[in-house]
Amino acid sequence: MNRWGAGLAIAAGLLLSGCATLSARLAPPHRPSALAWAYPDQVKAVRGGQVVMVDGAVFPISDGRPGEASEQGLDQADIADMFAQTYRRGPQRKPPRGDPGRARYEPLFLKMYGDCSTRPFQAHMRRVAWMPARQGGTVNVTTVNGVDRALEAVVADLEKLPPEMTRYLVPTAGAFNCRVVAGTGRRSMHAYGAAIDIATAWSDYWLWKGGEDAVWANRIPPEIVAVFERHGFIWGGRWRHFDTMHFEYRPELLPRRRRP
Ligand SMILES: [Zn+2]
Repeated sequence: MNRWGAGLAIAAGLLLSGCATLSARLAPPHRPSALAWAYPDQVKAVRGGQVVMVDGAVFPISDGRPGEASEQGLDQADIADMFAQTYRRGPQRKPPRGDPGRARYEPLFLKMYGDCSTRPFQAHMRRVAWMPARQGGTVNVTTVNGVDRALEAVVADLEKLPPEMTRYLVPTAGAFNCRVVAGTGRRSMHAYGAAIDIATAWSDYWLWKGGEDAVWANRIPPEIVAVFERHGFIWGGRWRHFDTMHFEYRPELLPRRRRP
């Protein structure tokens, strides 16, 4: 590279790093500070290596152990692990290599949403009409973090999609379900009333397709995925351990376009 080439490369580098700083300021996801933006009713601040809740409870961001991507590692995920992989929107043309958003620090979610096996939990649940113009019935979701309102916004946008999309959405396979993730001891986001499964008949799930050797497949149209993501729900089709009917409310992982 000659002198001019080197100068240009340095200028381009400066420009790129400037852009990176700017975009990081506009869009805080993929780092723990996004939790305060995503869950303003619950998270007061993220500082000093801790997540401080509005009631004063604190959670450490890191447990000091390196991030663990294995299935066993998911059981010990800390808050830092939740942000270790970048969740990217847009058409999913290739099989995902990671599981962005699949790691969850369970004590934080349990603190926010509550334990579904207890009576107080039920007070936060609400029935929301699912695709009412297409006779989709209702689903049971939590009102915590405004999940019910976010799902209503999803429904309003999904209703604008053409009629050929109905088969992917109705009947829904349900939202709230007080259960653990299949084959694990971890609570599912369904156990918090903060996840929904769309039509099973059009879904692909890694455990149905041979487990760890499963080859990624998807039949869910990108238009449907885009609607959910716009309102704070991530999609299980972006995971190497894919679950294409599954959407869960995780606004901390999505760009800051719209406040949840
Ligand atoms: Zn699900």
